[in-house]
Amino acid sequence: MIQVRQLTKNYGGTLAIDKLDFHVEKGEIVGFLGPNGAGKSTTMRILAGSLSATGGEAMVGGVDVFNDPRKVKSMVGYLPEFPPLYTDMTVRGYLLFCARIKRAQDPSAAVEKVIDQVGLTDVAHRLIDHLSKGFRQRVGIAQALVHSPKVLILDEPASGLDPAQRVEIRGLVKGLSDGETTVILSTHV
Ligand code: ADP
Repeated sequence: MIQVRQLTKNYGGTLAIDKLDFHVEKGEIVGFLGPNGAGKSTTMRILAGSLSATGGEAMVGGVDVFNDPRKVKSMVGYLPEFPPLYTDMTVRGYLLFCARIKRAQDPSAAVEKVIDQVGLTDVAHRLIDHLSKGFRQRVGIAQALVHSPKVLILDEPASGLDPAQRVEIRGLVKGLSDGETTVILSTHV
């Protein structure tokens, strides 16, 4: 489902990724482990179609990330390290906005499904600003999932959470494994 060959990214003088090779099969949940600065976020941003590379190849679902980033974006759900949340919106309102801009087939139905899947039912009417960090992270995962992507890319989904919340998020990600969705998540822990 994901194939990376000789992927290289140079930010000016900083070599962030140096000829990286790996592949991930359909339905796998793969952890991407490395210390801060190892190039995890850079790799994930490239795979999500939101950053160019300096060299090499990256394919997601058989589509070349560099030739057709739009197609890749429609297949990929991406949770950046700092989730793009609009904190003055309600959870449901924000997810509906995300479902629409990601062109989910039936946005309202997609939002209700993801609210249930990610465990946001009790807070769906609340402003994101009023949520705990753990729930905010769930909203971030929900926005990545709302258009039913084939591939989910989660950048440090448990960062900044307390141990109990980490366990919850891990359980949530495990629960997403349906044999169809491929998940790649990064951690420095
Ligand atoms: P990780 O996610 O593993 O912490 P990153 O991909 O964020 O690693 O960073 C890899 C390297 O690239 C680091 O040395 C970082 O400082 C550098 N870097 C990341 N983003 C940029 C950028 N936009 N401009 C310049 N250097 C960057």
